[in-house]
Amino acid sequence: MKLYNSATRTKEEFVPIEPGLVKMYTCGPTVYHFAHIGNLRSYIMEDILEKYFRWTGLKVNRVMNITDVGHLTSDADTGEDKMLKGARREHKTVMQIAEYYTKAFFDDCSKLNIRIPDTVVPATSCIPDFIEMISVLLSKGYAYISDGNVYFDTSKLDEYYIFNRHNEEELLVGAREGVLEDTSKRNKTDFVLWFTKSKFEDQELKWDSPWGLGYPGWHIECSAISMKYLGRSLDLHCGGIDNAFPHHTNEIAQSEAYSGQKWCNYWFHVLHLNSSTGKMSKSSGEFLTVSLLEEKGYDPMAYRFFCLQSHYRKTLAFSWEALDNAAGIYAKLIARIAAISDTGGTDSAAFDKFKALFDEALSNDLNSSLAITVLYDVLKADIPGAVKLALISDFDYILSLDLIKKADELRLKESSAADESADEEVETLISARARARAEKNWSESDSIREKLKAMGIVIEDTPQGQKWYKLK
Ligand code: AMP
Ligand code: ZN
Repeated sequence: MKLYNSATRTKEEFVPIEPGLVKMYTCGPTVYHFAHIGNLRSYIMEDILEKYFRWTGLKVNRVMNITDVGHLTSDADTGEDKMLKGARREHKTVMQIAEYYTKAFFDDCSKLNIRIPDTVVPATSCIPDFIEMISVLLSKGYAYISDGNVYFDTSKLDEYYIFNRHNEEELLVGAREGVLEDTSKRNKTDFVLWFTKSKFEDQELKWDSPWGLGYPGWHIECSAISMKYLGRSLDLHCGGIDNAFPHHTNEIAQSEAYSGQKWCNYWFHVLHLNSSTGKMSKSSGEFLTVSLLEEKGYDPMAYRFFCLQSHYRKTLAFSWEALDNAAGIYAKLIARIAAISDTGGTDSAAFDKFKALFDEALSNDLNSSLAITVLYDVLKADIPGAVKLALISDFDYILSLDLIKKADELRLKESSAADESADEEVETLISARARARAEKNWSESDSIREKLKAMGIVIEDTPQGQKWYKLK
């Protein structure tokens, strides 16, 4: 597969370190609120990538953290800790908030057919691992203590700005998330590994450490959790583009400083979903959730389809019109699949040809919209219905649009609607015959009996009136 690697800014052949196995890490959600559909765009595209690997026969070991420790992260401008903010908003503890929104996140994933990673790790369950990593960084001279906090010293690295498309202004935003008006930092890009002092004196969750009671910085989570579960190097790291800097840059800095070796070979960044008012974020702008889409009558599958129609490396503009459009196309697609008659028959050459085309689309930097075009080509092709259905079912392992399931549901709905209208017609004829008999209109009553017989309904006249049954 050719995959665009954000670290080298080129499409590269994807070659896992261990043949046959992909070690994949995903930055999980910060669980202080519901995930918005922008966050879920990233997880949908990562899901397609993971399933594509599996579809081609590779094994995947995917790890994801849950950020349940409070941080400013990209919310720097709000000047408030995210988890605390959530807890205050809902008059709950940070742990209650984390538990509630972790469950809500996985509920949304399940509605969108996003596979849950093999290993999901809340940051709060790995405090000793963070402490160990920070201790090593201190002992190797990559970190320093200043004014109670432990900082990573970015000046000790030969190379820091891996994702260096960032201008001075962005660097300063990144630097600011390290809290404190940072007179305590040596370099503006240094970042906090462990806080004992912060603006958040009322931080609920604190742990003992060699540097005092405190809590870990955000970036250390992903490095330590990844190394704990995937080893000192991994194949692929995923996340939304906003995480490229400072989060991923800092993850690389501290991971490679810690282990003394290259950490991650490929970086997969999903571009943002923007709302009409600009970037969709949990702290500002339009905040759309899966539940809101459902309340408005949208099938979550229509949103997944909407995402798959665009390439992950293009910013995607959300609008209700665009979603309506995708929902309409998705509904028509299901209707077309439901209309395929499974009359048997095989055509292995056609099966292989379309499978290869589908593979080719995805193997070229995950071109999901082209893969969907191949699906339409299958629908149009002059091949047996059974082959079409087999291909659709095979493709849907990756697309996960419930294509066969929804088509079956539609067929069932249509046939029960047809049954209902047939039953209504029978009832009307039986009443009409009863009226004809009461009026002693025998010719009319006999002609209705014949009509019913043609519909498979046998009618008998008994002293208690008409009795009828369906012929098997
Ligand atoms: P967070 O919960 O803020 O840590 O974000 C979870 C994931 O969603 C991260 O991979 C982010 O990079 C990603 N993300 C945040 N905002 C958007 C957006 N508007 N569109 C796509 N992905 C996003
Ligand atoms: Zn991360």
